[in-house]
Amino acid sequence: MATARKAKDRKSSGELQHPLRIVPLHSAPRAAATGSPQLTYRNGPLLTNVQVFSIFWGKAWQDSANLPLMTHMNDFFDFILTSKLVDQLSEYNIPGKSIGHGARTGSTVLTKSEPAKTVTDAAIQKLLQSEIASGSLPANTPDSLYFVFLPPGAQVSQGGAKSCETFCGYHDATNDGIFYAVTPYPGCTGCEGGLAIPDALTSTSSHELCEAITDPIPGTGWYDDANGEIGDICAWKTKTLGGYVVQLEWSNEAEACV
Ligand SMILES: [Zn+2]
Repeated sequence: MATARKAKDRKSSGELQHPLRIVPLHSAPRAAATGSPQLTYRNGPLLTNVQVFSIFWGKAWQDSANLPLMTHMNDFFDFILTSKLVDQLSEYNIPGKSIGHGARTGSTVLTKSEPAKTVTDAAIQKLLQSEIASGSLPANTPDSLYFVFLPPGAQVSQGGAKSCETFCGYHDATNDGIFYAVTPYPGCTGCEGGLAIPDALTSTSSHELCEAITDPIPGTGWYDDANGEIGDICAWKTKTLGGYVVQLEWSNEAEACV
């Protein structure tokens, strides 16, 4: 309950005070990190053994043209959740909360409804709430992370901003404690970031995954007031792990993106 209350308080503080939780466009001018970034822990939850369920919203995901990308993303989660990318987050363990490997618990293509051409964050929250309640999605647990993928052509509107105009992905928590990430199809130069579509999507997804693990309610886990979350400080700096393009993440210990 404390979790839900905190999320609500945060939302009432106004959009502009929202802690950073987006992947910015690759082309967006970015201020250099302010001072020496240092994430500090603010007593909120962490996803210690994250349970990812991938959701592909819309009939378009049943098209043979989009199936390879869906398979690619599920294979990516199966690999990355037990990889060194998760291991490197252990420096953010706190007493009683050790960040360990996670798992992908499943995947679904949701076709009962279709995403609007411009999908609002509120519509995504509502979808998750209703599909969890109806049993179409697995029940929420303290380690659950629902990862929502949108088909080509669907734009997401969140906090007064739009995907492919301002951001490429984000994560957040609903007031009733559902942790989720949204990664629209990267169908624009700013969200391709010079990468092939599958690589751009794993890069953005890895950014949101690591942030959801270390700061599931944005601003209440590991956070830097000047520079944001673990992935924000290193946006679009990538490496290859197990054949997948992933984003570098900030390390307090190394004082660098690693
Ligand atoms: Zn971020």
